[in-house]
Amino acid sequence: VSYFDYNATAPIRPEALAAVVEAMQAVGNASSMHQPGRQAAYRVDAARRQLADLLGCSPGEIIFTSGATEANNLALRAAFTAGSPLVTSPVEHPAVLETARTLTAESPKDLVLLPVAADGLVDLDPLDQVFAARRGGVVSLMAANNETGVLANLRIAVKAAREAGALIHTDATQIIGRLPVDVTDLDVDLLSLSAHKFGGPQGIGALYVRRGAPLPHRPLLVGGGQERGWRAGTLNVAGIIGMGAAAEAAARGLGEEAERIAAMRDRLEQLVTSAIPDCRVNGRRDQRLPGVASVTFPGVPADAVLAAMPDIAASEGSACASGAPTPSHVLLAMGLSRADADSTIRFSLGYATTDAEIEHAAHAVKRAVTQVRAVLAEADA
Ligand code: PMP
Repeated sequence: VSYFDYNATAPIRPEALAAVVEAMQAVGNASSMHQPGRQAAYRVDAARRQLADLLGCSPGEIIFTSGATEANNLALRAAFTAGSPLVTSPVEHPAVLETARTLTAESPKDLVLLPVAADGLVDLDPLDQVFAARRGGVVSLMAANNETGVLANLRIAVKAAREAGALIHTDATQIIGRLPVDVTDLDVDLLSLSAHKFGGPQGIGALYVRRGAPLPHRPLLVGGGQERGWRAGTLNVAGIIGMGAAAEAAARGLGEEAERIAAMRDRLEQLVTSAIPDCRVNGRRDQRLPGVASVTFPGVPADAVLAAMPDIAASEGSACASGAPTPSHVLLAMGLSRADADSTIRFSLGYATTDAEIEHAAHAVKRAVTQVRAVLAEADA
């Protein structure tokens, strides 16, 4: 099977796998005072440094969580105060959208959803108007969209938030380890990430909190006071060490690797669009993650195409709401019809993708679409 679902989860990097196995062979709670405990704490510190180096922040600005879902929940729950605006967009991941809806359920006027253009870019112009009426609050915008790969104009959002005295959070789950990001330079207050998107293990992630960010101390989990009281619970030592190893591996040659992946993605799009002339690529093409191609095949249901190419592991929209056959809220927000949204396949590739897999996938897509069209035509006749 050729794997084209890196945005759902990336294959674990060999460095991360080796680090996890080694870590799991050692005993030690990072909070224990004896030698095995101190050894675990020492290795957690090293991993925190590896992750901080990837992000361009200091280790003390990182809170380990179970992933980006928890990081998003934690960030918004800490940053939001009823009566001040919570500004986000309709193309966010459900971990942001559902948290935002839950937090503002009693005060729906606090929730502000910015408009989205047909190319997937969130329109930041209304921010002036929002903050002219009420200052403060929090702005939460994803750095890169998981379905289309479209990159936000985060710097503009940061500037607007700063001027309005609002906190700024970004769900950077899809960009970390795929494109170079320097959080200190970006100047956000809060940033969420998940290790398994860049070749670390599943079930571990982090929330970056800028030193000095005026964030009320509102942890989701209280108990033993780990992570400076921000996230109680025995540290996931093996997960953290695996994430650190993946961060270090991803950081190596990141810029060149992104170019190599973008070239493969462009080749895939070119092969598919020339083989199936009426298909359409979604999302602003010059402002996208390198490894994502969202392609609509009008009139051809994506589930049928995916079933007709079982050796290609791609997906319909995102895997995040798996099982639920609802059309993509991202594509609908970009103005696609329900039928077109249901006829869209997301191919996402990454560090282990090969040129041969690209050629193979393009052939498989052409065969599958042709086959589904023939079946539909027969059914019509
Ligand atoms: N945000 C985005 C943009 C994502 O793509 C994902 C993973 N699908 C998440 C958050 C949640 O990550 P996790 O499931 O690892 O908590």
